[in-house]
Amino acid sequence: MIEGSCLCGAVRFRTKRMSGIVECHCAMCRKAAGGHSGFFFTAFRDEVEWTGEEHLTRYRSSPQLERSFCSHCGTAMTGANLIEADDTIILAANALEADAPGRIIAQEFYASRCAWTDGGDKAPRFDGSYPGWEELRP
Ligand SMILES: [Zn+2]
Ligand SMILES: [Zn+2]
Repeated sequence: MIEGSCLCGAVRFRTKRMSGIVECHCAMCRKAAGGHSGFFFTAFRDEVEWTGEEHLTRYRSSPQLERSFCSHCGTAMTGANLIEADDTIILAANALEADAPGRIIAQEFYASRCAWTDGGDKAPRFDGSYPGWEELRP
């Protein structure tokens, strides 16, 4: 089973199959998903089992599209889904457990990517927290 949950655990989804993951650099997905980009995949709507769906807040980010997030902790749970639903649903990969089988297959709205990630792949890496937090000043 492929499982996802919000930070506080109030909302969970489970599904049997997932598509590849699309990374979106548009400003809406950045803000909605809370990162330098949003990561989304599709699942068949009738295969997705929700727990705590009543805790989702739905937000219409454009006239035809609706996103949702946990009303307690703010975790994005779905991507921009058409209000007129079809057989698939776009789910937010940020909610997935770390061992989910999907992989990133495409990056979209790449020209909209934010400047502050430039060079980030060359920054030093730590398996625990960054030891410089105490001294970190603007
Ligand atoms: Zn939550
Ligand atoms: Zn986007």
